[in-house]
Amino acid sequence: MKPIFVFVISALITTACSRVSPEMQVIHDAAEALGGQARIQEIKTLVIEGEGTAPNLGQNITPDSDLPVWKVTKFSRVIDPANSRMRVKQVREAQFLFAGETVQTQEYGVDGEVAYSIGQDGAAARVSEWVARERQREMLHHPIVIIRAALQSESKLSNLRSEGDLQLVDVTTAKGDTFTLAVNGTTKLPERVSSMSYNDNLGDVVIETSFSTYEDLAGLKMPKGLTTKTDKYPQFDLLVTKNSVNADAGDFAAPEALKAAQVPPRSLPVTVTAQEVGKGIWWLAGSGNHRSILFEFDDHLTLFEVPLNEMRTLAVIDTARTLRPDKPLTHAIVSHHHFDHSGGLRAAVARGLTIITYRDNVEFFKQLVARKHSIVQDALARTPQPLKIEPVDEELTLKDRSMEVRLYHLKDNPREGTNLFAYIPRDRMLVQADMYDSGWLQHPWGDNLPFNIKLHNLQVEKSVPVHGTVQSYADVLKTIASHRG
Ligand SMILES: [Zn+2]
Repeated sequence: MKPIFVFVISALITTACSRVSPEMQVIHDAAEALGGQARIQEIKTLVIEGEGTAPNLGQNITPDSDLPVWKVTKFSRVIDPANSRMRVKQVREAQFLFAGETVQTQEYGVDGEVAYSIGQDGAAARVSEWVARERQREMLHHPIVIIRAALQSESKLSNLRSEGDLQLVDVTTAKGDTFTLAVNGTTKLPERVSSMSYNDNLGDVVIETSFSTYEDLAGLKMPKGLTTKTDKYPQFDLLVTKNSVNADAGDFAAPEALKAAQVPPRSLPVTVTAQEVGKGIWWLAGSGNHRSILFEFDDHLTLFEVPLNEMRTLAVIDTARTLRPDKPLTHAIVSHHHFDHSGGLRAAVARGLTIITYRDNVEFFKQLVARKHSIVQDALARTPQPLKIEPVDEELTLKDRSMEVRLYHLKDNPREGTNLFAYIPRDRMLVQADMYDSGWLQHPWGDNLPFNIKLHNLQVEKSVPVHGTVQSYADVLKTIASHRG
């Protein structure tokens, strides 16, 4: 009887194999078009070298203008798909006015759950589990790597649909990440892959990489163009100068010491200090280089800047409320839309604050407040509040018996078109973001600061900034003169 039993089993296997799901058929066809399943499974390393442009998200002159870009040179990405390892190295050069290092070398990697960055001195530092997960997803934004993952028996394929000449399949990996793969119906080559991510400012976002210009490397097809966008924003446009398969890429496993190192949290803990810099005016500094300024009016408090992210902003709001517990904190002036300055917008709205900002930020702020934050539920997602917003035209004076704060739209700044700064006449004090930071390496838009001060005939004696340290205005001008960009 035994031989018959064996026959029945093998017949069942044959039947199961011949009943490939329509989704798996798309993956099989794509694998065939790329060079065959066997070739894809055998891959030890992929080395992708090239150059391109990487826009700087959330740093445009106005909320709707094009993003400033980094020119990326000497880009290389090494992938070992079997071991879930990747290392990326690149040099980037700022193609915009920039006060920091305009040429930067960056190197980072991921090895399974261990993500790390490599500093200028060659030392590796562990980064958060969140980043490790992001990089694991980034690795799969390549046609060979995503098809290889889709072929794994633990992966789940679902939701076949078509879009024009494209066939779309959802691929959920063993780690639980879902990717949407779009395969060309004619060539059967992958055209793009997308996955969800979370951005503190934008909330839930789709990250999508499109592939173009496939070349043949001894029977294996590799794209020469990879274009990534986050939501509607272009993120990286890579032109591959050299694809290599199974080249010796050296050892790019995570260093042993890192695997045992403590994993830092996604956001570092925040401290907020309060220094009274004038009667009823506090400079809220502490950790990091994003500060806020608190103004005391007769019957309420107003913050200048809710920066960086929710964690920073909630800590700032909590501190502000301890300084004059008898007066409610009711308003937040948001200097401009750059993501590191509007990062606390949603947190401020969640705490019931009315937002004051330049008129050209209003539409964008409405969009930020309306966006979906389900991957990470931020304070506003947990406790929805309506946006209360007061647009400022060219100037606005906030004044009562206790305090006078004049707000001015920053004019003719080559980097920021929607920025508001403040002047407190009683204290001859300038409160500003991004016009000047005492720590900058150079001041390429330094002349714009005194230009704006003279424009309104302000008698500034002291600068109380969002970035950098409190200084006399004379020292500010001296620093700008000595480090002209
Ligand atoms: Zn800034």
